[in-house]
Amino acid sequence: MEQKKIFMTGDRPTGKLHIGHYVGALRRRVELQNSGLYDECYVMIADTQALTDYYDNPDRIRESVIEVALDYLSCGVDPSRSTIFVQSRIPELFELTCYYLDLVTLSRLERNPTVKSEMRQKGMEDSIPVGFLCYPVSQAADITAFDADTVPAGEDQAPMVEQCQEIVHKFNSLYGETLVMPHLLLPENDSCKRLPGLDGKAKMSKSLNNCIYLSDDEQTVNKKVMTMFTDPMHLNINDKGHTKDNPVFIYLDAFATDDHFRRFYSQYENLEALKRKYEDGGLGDVEVKRFLARVINDVLEPIRQKRHEYENDIPGVYRILEEGTEKARAKAMATIHRVRRAIKINYFEDRKLIEKQVKRFKKQHQDEENLKAYLAKQKKA
Ligand code: ATP
Ligand code: MG
Repeated sequence: MEQKKIFMTGDRPTGKLHIGHYVGALRRRVELQNSGLYDECYVMIADTQALTDYYDNPDRIRESVIEVALDYLSCGVDPSRSTIFVQSRIPELFELTCYYLDLVTLSRLERNPTVKSEMRQKGMEDSIPVGFLCYPVSQAADITAFDADTVPAGEDQAPMVEQCQEIVHKFNSLYGETLVMPHLLLPENDSCKRLPGLDGKAKMSKSLNNCIYLSDDEQTVNKKVMTMFTDPMHLNINDKGHTKDNPVFIYLDAFATDDHFRRFYSQYENLEALKRKYEDGGLGDVEVKRFLARVINDVLEPIRQKRHEYENDIPGVYRILEEGTEKARAKAMATIHRVRRAIKINYFEDRKLIEKQVKRFKKQHQDEENLKAYLAKQKKA
């Protein structure tokens, strides 16, 4: 099988997408999509995965599917180049998950650091839904169903891709080369790998309510930036400040360009110069936050405008999802046929198997006849 360049990635429809998604995943996938280096691009709305911890709130998922689709389209995911689809409508993914579950141990699943911290966060330690514990296996099905060799995502996804690699390795060793080995493509900029929350928590996350959403308007962004956690030791303007582990500077790392400095903050040449000043003392948090808000609004403005256009054609957006899902399903079906063949459970599609069994039983019957005839002859004699 000739290996095409294929990327596969996705998001859980548990709310609107935020600027952590943008720098950690979305911006990169749009670049990859437009790079011309990929033969196929798949972007999945992972509603079944979202149900593993939001099973009691299907309305939230239902509402978020369209929000996530709007966020994709407004950021430049282009349905003519990327297949945008909905996970739950592709049953082949769940069939694959079933086969992969046999290749993974319970203790391996319990060691997954991302799942562990999510369990803690959600207070699930005492009663963990099996579906939630197993979602990394279902994610391996999502990645391999599309023969993806590249998974562009944030750092929290590293354990998932590792789990997927182990499954691919085990599957291929047991059943022969069938699945494509994927690798994780992290953002190059460290600040983008795991953008912290407005509250300074390790990760901006829909579930933690510490986000700037891609669809937030200018005033909301201004307000949220002003509430941001900064350096707790920087109480007076003249105090020396810390830029490392300071969310305001981490966000600037992720978003601010030299051009932003030229346009909005020309007394500093670039981020390095601004950091130096903050560290030396004499620069107030409010001033830096004002600049950050301008930068974020500058990045979000074209996204908001595009979103507005798509919001005026909601039936069109659902059509994009439906068509993408059909296309993705055809690809997953091709993989499932390959997988069934490898595991030798393709009973009804294998003509040779039927012929072989016909021959086997024919021979068995012939042998029985021969034996009967021989015994009859012996008896006579
Ligand atoms: P949830 O809380 O429901 O899990 P989430 O905010 O973690 O939501 P996901 O849908 O789980 O979002 O993640 C989608 C993609 O966005 C993944 O590739 C993930 O690595 C990336 N991502 C999510 N949050 C961040 C972040 N704060 N910084 C960088 N990348 C992120
Ligand atoms: Mg998540």
